[in-house]
Amino acid sequence: MSEVVDHLAEMTGFRDRDVMDVTLVCALRDLLEPLSVAIFRCVGDAGEQRWLTRARLGADDAVATADPLWSDPAGLPLLQDYPQRLDCMHSRAVVQGELPALADKAEQFISLFPIATDREVVGVLEVISTQRMSPKAQRMVSSVLRIYHNFQGLLDYSERDTLTGLLNRKTFEDSFLKAVSELPARAILADTDDGRRHEGSSPRYFLGVIDIDHFKQVNDRFGHLIGDEVLLLLSRLMRSSFRFHDLLYRFGGEEFVVLMRCEDELDAAHAFERLRLNTEQYAFPQIGRITVSIGFTQVRIEDSPASAFERADKAVYHAKDSGRNQVHSHAELVLAGKMSEQAQLSAMELF
Ligand code: GH3
Ligand code: MG
Ligand code: MG
Repeated sequence: MSEVVDHLAEMTGFRDRDVMDVTLVCALRDLLEPLSVAIFRCVGDAGEQRWLTRARLGADDAVATADPLWSDPAGLPLLQDYPQRLDCMHSRAVVQGELPALADKAEQFISLFPIATDREVVGVLEVISTQRMSPKAQRMVSSVLRIYHNFQGLLDYSERDTLTGLLNRKTFEDSFLKAVSELPARAILADTDDGRRHEGSSPRYFLGVIDIDHFKQVNDRFGHLIGDEVLLLLSRLMRSSFRFHDLLYRFGGEEFVVLMRCEDELDAAHAFERLRLNTEQYAFPQIGRITVSIGFTQVRIEDSPASAFERADKAVYHAKDSGRNQVHSHAELVLAGKMSEQAQLSAMELF
């Protein structure tokens, strides 16, 4: 009993989802001594969804492994490749089974537990063992998962905007600094602001700012409640326009921020253009059409969250001045002589 409590204390000791998933699989390996324990999340667009391994620990592994946050979805297994996991997600219940016996291996049993948020089932916990899991062990795993679920709910509450469910501004700085720390100095030194010259597979991050056009008029004509509904629907358009690992924020009011990892500037421009077009074409109930203005910039190794934000925001202002419903790259504007390069800002000036 006290062993379980110790593990729970450890699991809830950090406000970090990655650490929490790793401590959960560590706890269950210690408690159940299985062949392996893993957490899989369902990611990607409807119809093309895949399994992302959040944490996996085998009996003899020293440390847990996981798919990188920015995994290319095409390289992940498809949902239908693992029908038992799908069964578990759809039934929202524990699924037990035997794994096909291999000639030189003892029998293996699989136990799958659904992992849900308040809104939906988002993945499964998988335990593979040499014996069928006892009802008592099942109850223990289910209880640990209830605590995991409650704690994830608390994290959501502190990290997410209540209206749209997007990340809130508070969490932006951390994820931005994490992204910058992944930028290899070598690629950055060889880099220019036009975003065209770069090292083959170096990660490149882009920050976009999205502002709704004439949103005051929506509120004035239709009221704040309808205005809020527009914000919610726009957040859904954002989710469907960007990839699952892009980080989407509501910065406040009707201003949104996207932090994305892309191959190059053109790739980023396409993604933002897709959102602009999807918004322009969407029939918002009662009010009809709205448009957005978008500015974006490549994140540089010397950037503070504020300095990158300011470049993208200046590009938004340019889009507004040029007639709205447009996407502009800060680098392109500088290259075209329409904007000057910024002086470095200190992090304190904007945030
Ligand atoms: P522009 O095209 O220049 O962006 O025009 P705009 O009217 O959108 O101007 P601005 O971006 O300055 O306006 C922001 C408005 O957004 C002000 C306020 O009425 C509205 N707003 C801010 N936060 C909320 C919110 O949480 N809910 C609703 N319904 N409206 C909000
Ligand atoms: Mg605004
Ligand atoms: Mg606006």
